[in-house]
Amino acid sequence: MSFHFSTIAQYHQQLLAGTTSCTAAVQHYTQRIAQFKHLNAFTQVYDTEALAAAAQLDAQRDSTQPLPPLYGVVVGIKDVLNYSGHQVSAGSHMLRHYTATYTATAVQRLLQAGAIVMGMCNCDEFAMGSTNENSAYGPVLNAADNSKVSGGSSGGSAVAVQAGLCMVSLGSDTGGSVRQPADFCGVVGLKPTYGRISRYGLIAYASSFDQVGIFATNVADAGLVLQCIAGPDALDGTCSPLPMPQLSTALPAAQPTYRFAYLEPTLSLPGLDPHIKTTIQTYFAQLQAQGHVVDAVPFNLLDYIVPTYYVLTTAEASSNLGRYDGVRFGHRASGPFKNLTDYYLQNRSQGFGPEVKRRIMLGSFVLSAGFYDAYFTKAQQVRQLICQQTHTILSSYDAILMPVSPTTAFGLGEKMADPIAMYLADIYTVFANLAGLPAMALPLFTHANGMPFGIQVLTNAWKELLLHQISMTLLPEKTVK
Ligand code: GLN
Repeated sequence: MSFHFSTIAQYHQQLLAGTTSCTAAVQHYTQRIAQFKHLNAFTQVYDTEALAAAAQLDAQRDSTQPLPPLYGVVVGIKDVLNYSGHQVSAGSHMLRHYTATYTATAVQRLLQAGAIVMGMCNCDEFAMGSTNENSAYGPVLNAADNSKVSGGSSGGSAVAVQAGLCMVSLGSDTGGSVRQPADFCGVVGLKPTYGRISRYGLIAYASSFDQVGIFATNVADAGLVLQCIAGPDALDGTCSPLPMPQLSTALPAAQPTYRFAYLEPTLSLPGLDPHIKTTIQTYFAQLQAQGHVVDAVPFNLLDYIVPTYYVLTTAEASSNLGRYDGVRFGHRASGPFKNLTDYYLQNRSQGFGPEVKRRIMLGSFVLSAGFYDAYFTKAQQVRQLICQQTHTILSSYDAILMPVSPTTAFGLGEKMADPIAMYLADIYTVFANLAGLPAMALPLFTHANGMPFGIQVLTNAWKELLLHQISMTLLPEKTVK
């Protein structure tokens, strides 16, 4: 039986027509994962298990009933999502031999909707990074150009979709870790509103920022996955009780027009690649010609958003990562140990990589008695200001448009020696996490250097339906062939 993936809807049509099967799909991906092993997208591949799940789905199909929404959909999940009985390591030596004892709500809901988990996707250690080069498993290569990074931290999940190693994948987005690798790889990346998808079972980086996100080759598939995994969850107190609205993949008959804003300083940023800048300016003019409003709006906080993000997330990380001491969780050094402090010291020094250590130190510093008000409290205040200004803008516009990243994918190793340059490149993505807003990266363009890039659409909190409609309008087609 043949298999070719286009969209989940088309796959389901083929299943119903009997021209393909879940088994054929899993065999196809197993073969491709082996063929593209050098990309290093997966840390674990569950081929035998996936094949058994596919065979069961094929055998049990009741042709009188509609297919469950993610029936036979082959997914990859980021190595920060617990999946009972499977190793989950957050890309870290610290958890290299840790087996999950329960399943994250997002993964549980994928399975309930009929999905088949193909494997765990590589990522930066504890989701800290923008290139996937901080992983204990080594970097993920960009399938469009193997000398370039995948982006991060969900680099494996992005490349798994880009290279056709699964149909859709899950990542996590604390400051852009879904949208930025999606941009670097030319796929769709969705970060929902903070609290839209349960974080239960997601290994924490910075709890007031973390959200599960979705990679897909097209907007409709991202929406379908969101629909299945979003919504209230008693197991996560920060997950909203609001029900997830019904997303329709049907485009309205008449082309809708929207009111878009862009933050004026985002396009005058000195570090913004000139080709990306002019492409986006031309695109805005095209949108206006189609009847949309695209207005520049003032925003005086852009310079503060990266520092605010790094003060707050490192503070939260230093607290969240306290549990990896070798007693409760994590790597145990072989000793000898002088005392308990030395035991912790050796476990943590050996278990964590350099970027995670840097962030724990930075976070401990901004939370320390002498500096708490100057850094942590101040950053909380700036976060409030960002939320207020954004709210004001979105009370008179449907969405904010902005670049996803100032450049296309970096070369491997290019930014590793300069963490500040790496952090500054997060300028366009951390904004949505600071404000808790939903945002979608749409891979609309190809750079003169041959690499993909796109734009980001942000709407007000809980407006995933509007975000979906706008994204379907701007990108009605599938992107990865
Ligand atoms: N690049 C950002 C960071 O390093 C984003 C990480 C994320 O979203 N998990 O913190």
